Amino acid sequence: MYAYCGMLIIKKLGLLNLEMKDKIETLEERYNALMRAEQNRKAVIRRRRINLCKNLIVIIICLISMAPTCLSAYLMYQVTGMEQQISYLAGQREAEDSVNLAEVAETDGNNVSAAGDKSSDNGDISGSVKKVKPGKRVYLTFDDGPSENTSEILDILNKHNVKATFFVVGKTDEDSMNNYREIVNQGHGIGIHSYTHKYDEIYSSLSAFQTDVNSMSDLIYAATGVRTHMYRFPGGSSNSVSKTSVKELANWLTEEGYVYYDWNALNGDAVTKDLSPDTLVDNIMGSVENNEKAGRDSTVLMHDLTNKHNTVESLEPLIEKLKSKGFAMDKALSEDVNPVQQKVWR
Ligand SMILES: [Zn+2]
Repeated sequence: MYAYCGMLIIKKLGLLNLEMKDKIETLEERYNALMRAEQNRKAVIRRRRINLCKNLIVIIICLISMAPTCLSAYLMYQVTGMEQQISYLAGQREAEDSVNLAEVAETDGNNVSAAGDKSSDNGDISGSVKKVKPGKRVYLTFDDGPSENTSEILDILNKHNVKATFFVVGKTDEDSMNNYREIVNQGHGIGIHSYTHKYDEIYSSLSAFQTDVNSMSDLIYAATGVRTHMYRFPGGSSNSVSKTSVKELANWLTEEGYVYYDWNALNGDAVTKDLSPDTLVDNIMGSVENNEKAGRDSTVLMHDLTNKHNTVESLEPLIEKLKSKGFAMDKALSEDVNPVQQKVWR
């Protein structure tokens, strides 16, 4: 009996032992599976991190390589903007701080042909004028003279048989009076710019404007015997410094028989006196060639001022370059030339 019981216990213990082994194996398998899953998870995370790093490196390399291109494009954009700004500012030396000129627009680029020219009352020699294609005539103009440079400018123009137009200011000393006379005697155009050239005064009211224009007209007449009807607004016809409506001023000018002339090319000498003669020439050539493409003749703004000698030095190279490209400068502005006007006041 004891033996039988002992056998049963031993058998039971054997079975228990086998069950325990199975459970332990099952637990081991589960444990191993969990470990593998954990390792896989860590491997996936590691791969993701590596891929993330790779992508970041690629993005950084792309950004670094694109930076110079982006910077160049940005600088080009800035330069273009600055060039346009210079172009605007150049026309308004007198109103450096406050004038914003509107874009230059020419009302009609075609000039009356030589055969149709009428004699102007400012000494223009129509007989020597060539017939040229639209866009091939350049009218050189000088504002703010006379100055200590006027004689030198006249000599250069004379040497190259070129005519120009001087929009002058009021000076009554002997040299200036002689300069007015010489301008006319040498067949150049003379027009009114301003007697005082003081914005605050001339644009303060219509009557102040009229006084300024009439004073300058009388001075030119006294010096030269010419009663000119050519006028150039200080700051251009689109200036924004005038306290009086420019339309009102322009209407009065028209009633009095005046024609006002702006410009569609300039050398930029109003911006700073430090621009080199080469730069001054280049500034003009760019605009003149654009005008030519559009079939427009060019009216070029320069300044006849004592402290702008670079303009004088640029004049001969400018004339030579323009002539080499077939441009005619044999005619001063006159009332038979359709004027370049930034703003047409009707
Ligand atoms: Zn001026």
